[in-house]
Amino acid sequence: MPAADALAAIRARIAAAARTAGRDPGDIELLAVSKTHPADAIAALIEAGQLAFGENRVQEAAAKFPALKARHPGLRLHLIGPLQSNKARDAVALFDVIETIDRPRIAEAVAAEMARTGRRPTCLVQVNVGAEPQKAGVAPEATAAFVAQCRDAWALPIVGLMAIPPAELSPDPYFAMLRDLARDTGLGQLSMGMSGDFEAAIGFGATRVRVGTALFGTRPRPQADQP
Ligand SMILES: *Cc1c(COP(=O)(O)O)cnc(C)c1O
Repeated sequence: MPAADALAAIRARIAAAARTAGRDPGDIELLAVSKTHPADAIAALIEAGQLAFGENRVQEAAAKFPALKARHPGLRLHLIGPLQSNKARDAVALFDVIETIDRPRIAEAVAAEMARTGRRPTCLVQVNVGAEPQKAGVAPEATAAFVAQCRDAWALPIVGLMAIPPAELSPDPYFAMLRDLARDTGLGQLSMGMSGDFEAAIGFGATRVRVGTALFGTRPRPQADQP
C-alpha cells in the first residue's frame, strides 16, 4: 500500500474511534513508529504529511533522522525505547520528546544534559503497568512519587505518562490504569495504544497512539526489545 493510503487509513480509524468515544479526533496525535524501517520509507510518509515519528534506539535514530530533520524542520522525533544514562547526551540533542523516563539515574542524566545545552525536550514517564520484570517503566504504585521527584529534584518538563501493556492480555485494564494514574498526577498526555489496540486506547483517553506495523508493514528485522 502506498504510504499516503496507509496514513489516510490509520487517520480515518483514529477519527472513527474518537467519535465513538465522544472525543475530538484533533485531540489524538498519531506517532509513526519507524524503528527498523529505512529513511526512504520514512521520507515517503513525511511526503504524505506525517511529521511525528517514534524510534526506540538512540543510535538508530541518530543514523536516520538528522538528515531528514534538516530537510523537514517541522519533523518531531520521540524516543519510545529504554534510555541508558550514557546515551542521555545524544538523546537530548536529537529527540523532541523523551517518553521513557523511568528511573532517577535517567531523570538526573537527562536533566543535566538539558542544563548543559539549554535544549528541553518534553518528557513522559514510562509506567510498567503490567509489573512485568522484563519490561522498563516505573511501578504503578511508585508513579506519583516519581513524577513529583522528577519535577522537584530535577525540574524535568514532565507532561504525561506512557505505557506498553502486557502482550498476551486484554490491554483495557492497563489503559484504564494509565488514565487513572495520569488523572491522579495531574498530567495531560497519555501515550498508549499500538497497531493492534490503538482504537481501544482512544476509548480510554489516549492522546497519542504509537503505530508502526499498521503504517509501515511488518518490520524488516526482529528486535530483542520489541514489546
Ligand atoms: C514498536 C513499538 C510500537 C509500535 O508497535 P506496532 O505494533 O508495530 O504498531 C509502539 N510503541 C513502542 C514502545 C514500540 O517499541
